[in-house]
Amino acid sequence: MNDILPPESVRWEWFEHKVRELMHRYGYLNVRTPIVEPTPLFVRGLGEVTDIVEKEMYSFVDSMNGDPLTLRPEATAGVVRAASEHSMLYDGGKRLFYIGPMFRHEKPQRGRYRQFHQVGVEALGFGGPDVDAEVILMARALWRDLGLAEVRLELNSLGQSDERRAHRDALVAHLQAHEDLLDADARRRLHSNPLRILDSKNPALQPLIEAAPRLMDFLGEASLKHFDAVRAVLDAVGQPYRINPRLVRGMDYYNLTVFEWVSDKLGAQGTLCGGGRYDGLIEMIGGKPAPAVGWGMGIERVIDLLKQERIEAPVRAWDAYVVIPDAAALPQATATAEALRTLGLSVLLHAAGKDGPGSMKSQFRRADASGARHALIFGADELARGELSIKPLREAGGAQRSLALADLGSWAQELRNA
Ligand code: ATP
Ligand code: MG
Repeated sequence: MNDILPPESVRWEWFEHKVRELMHRYGYLNVRTPIVEPTPLFVRGLGEVTDIVEKEMYSFVDSMNGDPLTLRPEATAGVVRAASEHSMLYDGGKRLFYIGPMFRHEKPQRGRYRQFHQVGVEALGFGGPDVDAEVILMARALWRDLGLAEVRLELNSLGQSDERRAHRDALVAHLQAHEDLLDADARRRLHSNPLRILDSKNPALQPLIEAAPRLMDFLGEASLKHFDAVRAVLDAVGQPYRINPRLVRGMDYYNLTVFEWVSDKLGAQGTLCGGGRYDGLIEMIGGKPAPAVGWGMGIERVIDLLKQERIEAPVRAWDAYVVIPDAAALPQATATAEALRTLGLSVLLHAAGKDGPGSMKSQFRRADASGARHALIFGADELARGELSIKPLREAGGAQRSLALADLGSWAQELRNA
């Protein structure tokens, strides 16, 4: 679990700002659900034999009433719970997004933390392939907004449950025929969740996985039609993708379209964003059946990639630093700073210690170090004449000049428009 401190937090804020702009452009509204949910919500929603439920959840018993609770490992289950609890879909589909911390008890490493952050979208109540394409393209738009090139799209279809069942039988037969080659994890999953074996990162298993029967070959007409429709939109907007038959995603609740956005520049943890369709989840959690599609994006990984690509948040220097030669000027300097802030300027007051504001030299040194664009100097004589001094700090040879306090408003306006 990490502290995110300035100046690193500036990049986070910039990222979040870009996300909110993006969501607005696509008509997605923000939801904020609790960090803690009843444990059964995740067990039911994610599936008992998923990595998350088997070994990654921070679960505890509420000491007040004995309720089993869990720090959310992901947000989809909570958003779906909220949507059904508040009958949000009574008048049609809803386009929603969230940003926030998630918790998983994993082995910490680059790109994998125990408290990490996700932004995610959930389009609830929409069954058509057009919305699958919409959410995929939202992620693409975000890469563009952030200046990230070379994020690849991988795509697959998981079909429907009967198609998966037929495939599963064939898969189990294939794996059973080579049971001696399986590792302990795979052997355990052979009957409980064989699809997850395809997701194994064990290199020794790869040849066996490569030769396994493909779900795509078991899809019926309707599933193929849905998949083709998603592909047609991606083709039409010129978004390349790779069909990855081994893309199965960690959670049990996916059907039809699944996808990942991947970077090759982050080592082993290269998946920036993963998602897909989950038409059965809302009903599974106790809501009225409704289709849904969404994704979750790992913010730490995106930030890591931004850093690696040397993409910086635009710096906004403070507009002014208030220098106070004489403590007596403090009230008036503060009043002026307040007026400038009301006009939208950022103004740092020289915070005097208990012995007063200190020498002009030390104040200017601090003004300079702050990165502010101007020093505003409140000298006693000048104030008596209704003036102050302005010294540009970032212009070579910028000369100090006097300005009537009455003209400060138009100076601020000019600065804002510059
Ligand atoms: P992985 O296969 O890497 O474990 P996952 O399938 O568990 O990923 P999801 O649950 O789909 O991942 O989460 C969506 C995204 O959240 C991931 O693609 C990744 O970017 C990010 N993510 C998941 N777990 C972590 C973590 N422990 N630390 C940081 N980011 C994470
Ligand atoms: Mg995981």
